Amino acid sequence: MIRQLPMRQRIRKTLVFLAFLSFPITMNFFSPYVIIDGAMNGIINGSLVMFGLMFLSSLFLGRLWCGWICPGGGMQEIFEPVNNKTVNGSKIDWIKWAIWIVWFALIVIFAVRAGGYQSVDLLYHTQNGISVAGTADRPIFIAYIIYYVVVALFVGLAVFAGRRAGCHTICWMAPFMIIGRWIRNRFEWPSLRLVADASTCKDCKSCSKTCPMSLDVNAMVQAQKMENAECILCGTCVDNCSQKAIRYSFSAGK
Ligand code: SF4
Ligand code: SF4
Repeated sequence: MIRQLPMRQRIRKTLVFLAFLSFPITMNFFSPYVIIDGAMNGIINGSLVMFGLMFLSSLFLGRLWCGWICPGGGMQEIFEPVNNKTVNGSKIDWIKWAIWIVWFALIVIFAVRAGGYQSVDLLYHTQNGISVAGTADRPIFIAYIIYYVVVALFVGLAVFAGRRAGCHTICWMAPFMIIGRWIRNRFEWPSLRLVADASTCKDCKSCSKTCPMSLDVNAMVQAQKMENAECILCGTCVDNCSQKAIRYSFSAGK
């Protein structure tokens, strides 16, 4: 018998899949290249603003963005039925940091060399806000090539390595939110998080088996320590726990 997803997960999956379907429009607002190009030319553009908003949101919402509206997450979760293998994040999570540190340093260096940001163009490198489109200095087939390379990277990792492997390894956006989350934990201000009650857990491990980020959620519940940099607050564990041992909470904590 096919088991229906809980309503919240149906809504979440719909949102991340719609985000993926919108990716031909939104791609350049998440582009690691467009922000560098803007830095070289002293232009505040859509991707700079978007990454800034991700960071700010993470101060209060953690990585909710990753779990609920990220196109990269959507394109990987679509392929979960093809390869549902868990990935060992402890061995590969460092890769995205190595990429991010070099990339972020380049943005800063180019912005300084350009004399700082002097103008704002939120639709930079788009055609009236559409990313996969021809522009005056770039034919449309180049935009298609970039689009399919990005999709192939995320989908390839999901298909060959397993669940949301791209989030663990190549995502240049996740570190902004992990840093934001670290800051909120340092200051212990109220924010969205998971809390657990180990006394009601019956150790079925359903939470660990279903976590799209391959986290050992059961161990987190037993330790009553749900804070994990790789948790995307998707709520899959919340919705799959028959004991209601895990729940969302907007509260202070570490
Ligand atoms: S799904 Fe719930 S009951 Fe099962 S191991 Fe996880 S927290 Fe415990
Ligand atoms: S721990 Fe729960 S909320 Fe966090 S990523 Fe795993 S399933 Fe989603």
